[in-house]
Amino acid sequence: QAKKATKSSEGASYDIALPDTEKGVVTRFPPEPSGYLHIGHAKAALLNDYFAHEMYKGTLICRFDDTNPSKEKEEFQDAIVEDLALMGIRPDKTTYTSDYFDELYQYCVTLLKEGKAYADDTEQETMKHQRWHGLPSERREASVEDNLAHFEEMKKGTEEGVRWCIRAKISVDNPNKAMRDPVIYRCNPLPHHRTGNKWKIYPIYDFCCPIVDSMEGVTHALRTIEYRDRNPQYDWMLDALKLRKVYIWDFARMNFIRTFLSKRKLTKLVDEGRVWGWDDPRFPTIRGIRRRGMTIEALREFILKQGPSRNIVNLDWTLFWATNKKYIDPVAPRHTAIDKDHAVTANVRGARVAPYTEDKPKHGKNPALGTKKVAFSTTIIIEQSDAKSLKEDEEITLMSWGNAIVRKISHSLNPLTLSTVTGLELELHLQGDFKATKQKITWLSTQGQELIPVELVDFDYLINKDIIEKDDEIDECLNDHTEFRTEALADGNVADLSENDIIQFERKGYFRVDRPFMHGEPAVLFNIPTGKATK
Ligand code: ATP
Ligand code: MG
Ligand code: MG
Repeated sequence: QAKKATKSSEGASYDIALPDTEKGVVTRFPPEPSGYLHIGHAKAALLNDYFAHEMYKGTLICRFDDTNPSKEKEEFQDAIVEDLALMGIRPDKTTYTSDYFDELYQYCVTLLKEGKAYADDTEQETMKHQRWHGLPSERREASVEDNLAHFEEMKKGTEEGVRWCIRAKISVDNPNKAMRDPVIYRCNPLPHHRTGNKWKIYPIYDFCCPIVDSMEGVTHALRTIEYRDRNPQYDWMLDALKLRKVYIWDFARMNFIRTFLSKRKLTKLVDEGRVWGWDDPRFPTIRGIRRRGMTIEALREFILKQGPSRNIVNLDWTLFWATNKKYIDPVAPRHTAIDKDHAVTANVRGARVAPYTEDKPKHGKNPALGTKKVAFSTTIIIEQSDAKSLKEDEEITLMSWGNAIVRKISHSLNPLTLSTVTGLELELHLQGDFKATKQKITWLSTQGQELIPVELVDFDYLINKDIIEKDDEIDECLNDHTEFRTEALADGNVADLSENDIIQFERKGYFRVDRPFMHGEPAVLFNIPTGKATK
């Protein structure tokens, strides 16, 4: 497969390319509307978008692969449209496999008439056994008339019809098991979310995907590598029906450690109430990682850098979040929060008696972010852990203020909590050199501003094993406790933050506002991983 370094609109270069692009490029992203998009789907969608829109100025089709009424819902379809938009992906056309049910039906009749397909009512287990051992079905040599009659019965969705399926007559014992007479049509009497009760028969992906790709003018079909065994089958369908060939470009499936990337498993967790919903910040859905604080720019960069890899690897989330940090650090306004638990009140000698505020930059290196109000007074709070690390007579730096000397440290009188600091006396020493101090401490004035209550939420992986094996029971792989809340007080500017804002609480990390401060209720902020400490 062709490779060459290309430049994206973000200016990064990615080591991917398609062959034979002279006559134009049409790609498609074919989601099944049976769940919300996850980060694996994002890879497929972004690669298709990148080739169609950034690299070759072609066409991107979003095709809903809506051929299984048992799993599909309008809700999922709408969410997929929204999530693509959120990722900055604008398909030129949105289509539905179900739009082609008439043609697909006709193509199946053609195969049946030409003796290239047959109707089969072999029990599922027996069929599996026969395919595995390369044995023919009893129905393989049935007459065209019989096959057509069974297909008509299936089409009516009768009790008899439901027992049958249609199989392509490719091979009984090809070493590639995907070529052993695959099923191409099934009967399902359930109503379909778009075609209602019109159809009782539904084409299988392996049959409709090549046909619809060819009909829609797709030039390059991107598929995950585990479909590779099915590529000859894809070509067979097009040959058998004398349809235009499509180039298949394989890419590696994306997997992450401690992560389910399966709609079936994610659905189960949602349905059982094990998470808050499809946008749970612990979920690998687009909505979940967004809610955790992932930016779209970082997502695109991360995925396109993975683009050419053909190895199915289990990625670590570290690199993913480290990429995100690169994007958020230069633009995240700096704020201060102090853990409420055992916060220590300090008296600041030398401070002006009347509380006052000063405008300070929200970000030391990015003046474009503007300023915030910092309040100063004779009474401040600092974190218990900072207070414990101080020594009397030590010179420290109060961040955004200046140096101070620790004059007195009071400890708890309770013998069980002797090391707990209960109060401090500091004396400002503003002429002191902040480069010479060891301790740079965050603090908040309790006067001159309203301290804003915040809940800082950190999360652990939902899953307790790095690699999930095929027959692992979901319930046995789940961590019991994955949500950790800390109550804190933040500077008054935090009252003005809106949902989705991303900030840094100095010395604590990056946070995304999930719920702003409202009606006196604490603001809720989610800790954004930075790829450093993987808990
Ligand atoms: P799931 O197992 O989550 O149901 P799927 O492949 O059945 O995934 P589709 O909606 O059919 O879900 O997938 C749409 C596209 O996304 C397909 O092209 C598929 O190959 C691709 N895709 C799905 N999962 C991944 C993944 N983990 N990595 C890369 N691409 C993926
Ligand atoms: Mg699929
Ligand atoms: Mg799947």
